Amino acid sequence: MKVAVFSAKPYDQTYLGEINQGQHELEFFEPHLDSQTVPLTKGFDVVCCFVNDTLDRDTLVALKDNGIKLVAMRCAGFNNVDLPTAEQLELPIVRVPEYSPYAVAEHAAALALSLNRNLHRAHNRVRENDYSLDGLLGFDFNGKTVGVIGTGKIGVCFGKIMQGFGCKVVAYDPYPSNEAQKLGFEFLDLDTLLNRCDVISLHCPLMSQTYHIINAYTISKMKRGVMLLNTSRGGLIDTPAVIEGLKSGQIGHVGLDVYEEEEDLFFEDYSNNVLQDDTFARLQTFPNVIITGHQAFFTKEALTAIAKVTFSNLNAFAEGRFEDMHQVTTGK
Ligand code: NAD
Repeated sequence: MKVAVFSAKPYDQTYLGEINQGQHELEFFEPHLDSQTVPLTKGFDVVCCFVNDTLDRDTLVALKDNGIKLVAMRCAGFNNVDLPTAEQLELPIVRVPEYSPYAVAEHAAALALSLNRNLHRAHNRVRENDYSLDGLLGFDFNGKTVGVIGTGKIGVCFGKIMQGFGCKVVAYDPYPSNEAQKLGFEFLDLDTLLNRCDVISLHCPLMSQTYHIINAYTISKMKRGVMLLNTSRGGLIDTPAVIEGLKSGQIGHVGLDVYEEEEDLFFEDYSNNVLQDDTFARLQTFPNVIITGHQAFFTKEALTAIAKVTFSNLNAFAEGRFEDMHQVTTGK
């Protein structure tokens, strides 16, 4: 099949290219897929997309008109796809439901440890010949309460890591996972979790029910000085409300790998440009905030697994083994 790979970076070419071994004809496009770039898909059978491609109604209709038969997401989340339109167009959407929960959970833990012990600031100080400790005071994770919102594959993995540090793990999830229960996570309603936790980490998908789950109201319910981590999706957080929480001291630390307006920023080098997003610029001014550019998934193991599952989806589609595809929509 002819596959147009969008938002393609050199590492996508390496990992997808290695697995492909000439089975499919891949063409890599650096831009995001959206209604502007969709004309590039003419003559292809499949588009392969990532987290910041925009698969809205206009784009999906144009894909269908261009003869695209399958949309293969090379990520787990699909909040950027207009699913009702895809269903209506009978355009199947497949994804990689799981590639390495460890990659994302370990990154969330790295953010927590770095924030707590101010590693970002300590590193800069030592490079400046400044060995003073004032302002670097941390706390023991041992004995602290960590709240996991969303106890799927990544949330469970993160909770397990934090249990390893001696933390008590509590959780909120409308569909509590068996594994989390077996591990002894205590399930609470959201308000109680917010009120009890020293650290809160988001691991639920972005949906209408979870959009801005962290907002001025939920922040007001949190323990003063809480550490907030988001490695899930930017839209879970109302960023101006978090900025207010940081200014008042209600929030003590913030670790972000995702940002609501990230599609205009992340994955690109804008070091020669003037930053236009004032909210993002304000976030960067806090000494107790660490932001990474959607890199939590970025491990060798995860990229290998993403490439393998993407190709198993493509092969299953090409061979008519639809039951073997990881479908988001039925395509029927
Ligand atoms: P998963 O599907 O295994 O788990 C999601 C969990 O969220 C489920 O247990 C579900 O019941 C729960 N949930 C659903 N609605 C909820 C709600 N209203 N409140 C609380 N919990 C709710 O997903 P996963 O593999 O653990 O991934 C979680 C998220 O991580 C993905 O949706 C994706 O957005 C994000 N992610 C980020 C990166 C990255 O690089 N930063 C990489 C992969 C995934």
